[in-house]
Amino acid sequence: MVLKGGCACQRIRYECAEDPIVQLICHCRDCQRASGSAFAAIMMVAADKFRFLNDEPSYHEVLGGTTHRPFRRGFCTKCGSPVTLHWPEVSNVQMIHVGSLDDPSRFEPQTELWLSSGFHWHSKNPNTLKFDGKPITGVRDRLEAYFANRGSAFLFVPRNSDSKAQ
Ligand SMILES: [Zn+2]
Ligand SMILES: [Zn+2]
Repeated sequence: MVLKGGCACQRIRYECAEDPIVQLICHCRDCQRASGSAFAAIMMVAADKFRFLNDEPSYHEVLGGTTHRPFRRGFCTKCGSPVTLHWPEVSNVQMIHVGSLDDPSRFEPQTELWLSSGFHWHSKNPNTLKFDGKPITGVRDRLEAYFANRGSAFLFVPRNSDSKAQ
């Protein structure tokens, strides 16, 4: 297994059979609050290569600050650790909080976003592509290339599309 991890109390454990598609650092206020830290360090993986081994997290659903799309932050109800994140409308992408990995040292961030709300007391990584807000490149394009390579689309299915179509 390529990636393994879980929450602080280990009630939630997961594994992922592939390397991450995207590795990023998000400095937005939502990630600061939800992680209790200066930023969120996140790996994006293919949802069908990822699985929870016993319990699943509970989810706190919010609307994304700029996209206004639903976004779910998964956490352990016993110890409170943030573990995963996902967009319900993008069912083929799962996101992992790097701090939950058994080996977080393998994180190699490629992109930093929302530096406009980043803290001056936190130094920046010299190797990342940096954006004051939303990333122009380095996230969506990587996801699209990965899924195109697998012969499937990077699926975006608005949750209310069924009700609109009928
Ligand atoms: Zn826990
Ligand atoms: Zn964020």
